[in-house]
Amino acid sequence: MTKPIAVRNPRTGKLDHTIVPPSGDLLERQCLRSRQAQTHWQKIGIEGRIEALQQWKQAVLSQRDRLTEALVEDTGRLSISVLEIDSFLSSIDRWCRLAPELLQESEKATAIPFVRLQQTSVPYPLVGIISPWNFPLLLSTIDTIPALLAGCAAIVKPSEIASRFVAPLMQAIRDVPNLRDVLTFVEGDGKTGAALIESVDLVCFTGSVATGRKVAAAAAQRFIPACLELGGKDPAIVLASANLELATSAILWGSVVNTGQSCLSIERIYVAESIFAEFVDQLVTKADRLKLAYPTVESGEIGPMIAERQAAIIREHLLDAIAKGAIVRCGGQVEERDGGWWCRPTVLTQVTHAMKVMTEETFGPILPVMAFATVEDALNLANDTIYGLSAAVFAGTETEALAVAQQIDAGAISINDAALTALIYEGEKNSFKYSGLGGSRMGAAGLMRFLRKKTFLVKTNSTPDPWWFSDR
Ligand code: NAD
Repeated sequence: MTKPIAVRNPRTGKLDHTIVPPSGDLLERQCLRSRQAQTHWQKIGIEGRIEALQQWKQAVLSQRDRLTEALVEDTGRLSISVLEIDSFLSSIDRWCRLAPELLQESEKATAIPFVRLQQTSVPYPLVGIISPWNFPLLLSTIDTIPALLAGCAAIVKPSEIASRFVAPLMQAIRDVPNLRDVLTFVEGDGKTGAALIESVDLVCFTGSVATGRKVAAAAAQRFIPACLELGGKDPAIVLASANLELATSAILWGSVVNTGQSCLSIERIYVAESIFAEFVDQLVTKADRLKLAYPTVESGEIGPMIAERQAAIIREHLLDAIAKGAIVRCGGQVEERDGGWWCRPTVLTQVTHAMKVMTEETFGPILPVMAFATVEDALNLANDTIYGLSAAVFAGTETEALAVAQQIDAGAISINDAALTALIYEGEKNSFKYSGLGGSRMGAAGLMRFLRKKTFLVKTNSTPDPWWFSDR
């Protein structure tokens, strides 16, 4: 029997839930079972797998209330939990639509007229998926759905900080005979995550750079691929020609949605000197209008901090910035209410890159705004980071914005909008620098990375090849 882990409720601070990680033996047996079941899963073909995923979707719909309730307990917020469920369900449909064409095999001629090439793909038998707490359902299923459709079995280990949602999801999985042996969610912390890597053929990890390093090292030891989706410190650049109404609304949303607990949050804002004062005034006015989702989940837009350790980091970044001369224009405090940790949208000015809030991932509703004199300065500041997840550029014309966006070292740039990769999955993108490693999770590559290419080279004539040794 392993040691149970007590789980904190983000709204009350109470340890009101317990998870019991599987023992090493149990996890190994589960991996073996999934691996054995994968053969049948692959055999039923894409039509059979689509049918099973659609049945899962129906089973989830019948568990929807329980799932919503569990996600709200996990995260302390309501509207984003509803969005997470909708987004998860629509991603089943999206991948089911795309997969048949992506999985089609092809035949080609080769440079040698009597050799035909038959191109096929073979799924990795067992994929391990390890996910974080900020979008517990979405990020534990974002790689799972394409992996399953590709023909892999999957074992998913969500974060120990938010895993109440696992019970209703597992119930829905048990209702689908073809799925229940190839898809399992296991509860546990980093130890279970580390143990999982020892038994799978490919690992998809979403989480911090620090843990990503350990995951990459463990995967390298086993010679298995690791797809890493890690942290970010996304910049927004606002040029003098930008539409300020639009820029302030988009940036506010991109910074504080989900209380800023998003890898692709706008965490640094660089604004042209000539419009800086007006930009800040508008941003503060709009930020001040947002309300805490307190005392009830229905109350406002800004939920509690899900992870207590993150609340400590946000407070540390704020104190560091204020000690180094930052000015708080609104918000500014991490406060405790009824056991939960809360922070209002906080606009900071007089910030510099000597402050943690401008260089380290804050993961909270903090909007530090800095003025720039030239576009070159803005780009230097935006690129002065170890991260390269995504970014945003605002300008009067698309051409002007794109010219700047092309010079930002990041995998996805929203133009005249913010954090669009949270909603649009079609664009292939890689994470630059320390924000990740491995193929794109978005676009067609999001499914293709679960397959290994295999080629059959077929000799089509019955005469000796000209390069063989002569019989005489
Ligand atoms: P984390 O790295 O602490 O944990 C992530 C997961 O890894 C958890 O399930 C945890 O139990 C597990 N884990 C811990 N140690 C492990 C080990 N040694 N081996 C295997 N698994 C281990 O991250 P977190 O605090 O849960 O999440 C926040 C971080 O995730 C932020 O940095 C955020 O930017 C990042 N994130 C990235 C993306 C993205 O798509 N790039 C999306 C969301 C969050």
